[in-house]
Parts: sequence; C-alpha cells; structure tokens
Amino acid sequence: MNGIEKEQRHRDRMQRKKAVIDASIADADQNQGLLLVLTGNGKGKSSSAFGMVARALGHNMKVGVAQFIKGRSDTGEEAFFARQSDVTWHVLGEGFTWETQNLAQDIETALRGWAVVQGMLQDPSIDLIVLDELTYPVKYGWLELDTILDDLKARPPMQHVVITGRGASKALCDAADTVTELVDSKHAFRAGISAQKGVDL
Ligand code: ATP
Ligand code: MG
Repeated sequence: MNGIEKEQRHRDRMQRKKAVIDASIADADQNQGLLLVLTGNGKGKSSSAFGMVARALGHNMKVGVAQFIKGRSDTGEEAFFARQSDVTWHVLGEGFTWETQNLAQDIETALRGWAVVQGMLQDPSIDLIVLDELTYPVKYGWLELDTILDDLKARPPMQHVVITGRGASKALCDAADTVTELVDSKHAFRAGISAQKGVDL
C-alpha cells in the first residue's frame, strides 16, 4: 500500500468512526440530575468528586458538600472550596469510629448529619451535592438505606449528587446513574510513604 492509499484508508476509517460516535451522541439527548457513586479501594474517589465541584463552579453552579467521616481537618479541598461563595461546606462526622469509640454518639452524629443533607436535597438552588464518605455510616447501619434512597429520589430533577466511599451497597449502586469502582493496583502508602499535601490531602 502506498502513502496515498494509506491516507485514504485512514480517512475512511475515521469517517466511519465519526458517524458511530455522532450517532451515539445524538441518542444521548436527555438532561437530568445525576446520581453518581465513586467506590472501591483505589485512590481517587473524593478527589474526583472535588474535581466535579471545580467544574460546577466554573459554570457558576451552586454546590453543597457534606463530609460524613471527618478523617482530618487540614485538607486542601476544604481550605480551598469552603471559602468559595458558591459552596456550602458541612462537616457532619467526627472521625472514624475507631477514633471516636462511642457508638451512640456516632449514630446521633450521622442522623444529625443526614438531617442537614435532607435540607440540601430539598433545595433546588443547589445544583451539585457531594456526600463524601457517605458509604460508611450506611455500612455501619447508622443511617437507614431506605430513607437515603427515598430522599435522593425525591430531590429536584436537575440536582446532581455524588456519593463517595468504599464498599457502596448494591442498592445504592443500582439507584445510581453512573457508578465507578476505583481499583487499588498500587499505593505509595504501602511503600512507607505518608500522605502528601496536594496529592492525598
Ligand atoms: P482521595 O481523597 O485521594 O481521592 P479516596 O477518597 O479515594 O482518596 P479514601 O478511602 O477516602 O480514598 O482515603 C482517604 C485518604 O487515604 C487519602 O489521603 C487517600 O490518598 C488515601 N488513600 C486512598 N486510597 C488508598 C489506598 N488504597 N491505600 C492507602 N491510602 C489510600
Ligand atoms: Mg475519600
């Protein structure tokens, strides 16, 4: 095959590919509020959710963030996003259960936290809600999954919700429109490297 034939073959192939891609884009013509779940053991769940926060702010959208497990108070995302006027930032957890060591208090904190989330889920002026680490209070049974699913279903039709955390239940994934499971192929922590600013916190 000479150079001209090669060029022509490439152009034909790309034209066919473009037709397929254009058709699938034309098919996906609905607009609606999405429920996304970012789960799995790999790194990138919360940071992906905060990437969507940045995107939303770029479109002048209003954002609500609720952090259910307060692992640490010195994260870059909190320092940056909490001071943006279009972001409401709620810290609704008090730390991992092995830190608080008080079950009744953990349950009460989770329930109080969900009441705050319910307020956001009833507020059509909030375009995107991040429920960071919500999977844990669900997994521990501190929050009723049915209540969560009902409240999510009843939210304003154009409101997006992103849920992060390991071990998302099947029911939560079934209810979601987009589910990503991040795989832990390798993590620097296991090579003895501590959490690094700008990457891990
Ligand atoms: P990130 O906030 O970096 O996107 P994540 O939300 O996916 O991480 P979490 O389970 O919430 O992960 O863990 C929070 C912290 O633990 C972060 O500092 C993150 O970098 C780190 N981390 C995430 N995954 C792993 C892992 N597989 N092994 C060790 N540390 C991890
Ligand atoms: Mg996280």
